[in-house]
Amino acid sequence: MDTQTENDARRDRRSRVRRIRNAIITIITAWMVLSFILLTFLCFKVFSLQRQINILLAERMKEVSSDYASADGEMDSQLLTYVGTAEENLAAPDDTLKVYLTFDDGPSERTAEVLDVLDDYGIKATFFVTGHTDEHSLAMYKRIVEEGHTIGMHSYTHKYSDIYASVDAFAQDLDLIENLIYDTTGVDSMYYRFPGGSSNKVSNVDMAEYIEYLTDKGIVYFDWNVASGDATTQAYTADDLVENVMRDVVKYKTSVVLMHDSENKTITVEALPTLIEKLQAQGALLLPISEDTRLIQHVTLSTNHTAEE
Ligand code: ZN
Repeated sequence: MDTQTENDARRDRRSRVRRIRNAIITIITAWMVLSFILLTFLCFKVFSLQRQINILLAERMKEVSSDYASADGEMDSQLLTYVGTAEENLAAPDDTLKVYLTFDDGPSERTAEVLDVLDDYGIKATFFVTGHTDEHSLAMYKRIVEEGHTIGMHSYTHKYSDIYASVDAFAQDLDLIENLIYDTTGVDSMYYRFPGGSSNKVSNVDMAEYIEYLTDKGIVYFDWNVASGDATTQAYTADDLVENVMRDVVKYKTSVVLMHDSENKTITVEALPTLIEKLQAQGALLLPISEDTRLIQHVTLSTNHTAEE
């Protein structure tokens, strides 16, 4: 092989390597550019979907409030409407806020502590209780009533699968809790809080049927328009709880505040003194639920609603 041929071969090899290198660079560059375009496109897509969600949510909120505003009796009596945050309940700056603290799920190991704090401040509240027949629980039902609080029902078993299986099952459960409270305290409770609220999505049966059943029995149900956040499984602090309540109570003339009375809710008890002090500093009236309490319900039969207007 002469030098000339050798040089040619080397040049060929070099230019092949260069071509391959260029090809690789081109591919990588193209890949980066495409990724960038794709990423930009996806970001844009996410952003526009987020916007659409916001628009839909806003429309839904408007629908909900106009459902409420236009409940005119022509609607199907089974139709449910939202009233918890109704416009007529929005507070003006000078309004005296009415705040109803409510404790669900008791009696529990915490009930006596909750009652003690309420007693320290001379505050009356509402307890939506479930069914227990042990000595401590019976004593707690009595204390709730003797100390001037409102006792409401929150089902006997609190088992969604039972009470929401059928109206019959619901009725049987209601009888149990009604009788237990009556036999223990002498009070014929007229208040009910649906486990999961009247807007729960667990029930097999249209909630309208349960609402009708309660209404026929003269029992009034209350949901809540302020959640303390103590139902969440995530850890929450006493400060969080106070903040959650204080942020929302200023919005409404009447606030029904959802809290829980159960063994693991020590934070709720811990938060209670500060919460009461802050509410009082705000000039709020802390009251037990009574016949005079504005109905705070997540859903209601539109016919019931019209009758009230
Ligand atoms: Zn409950």
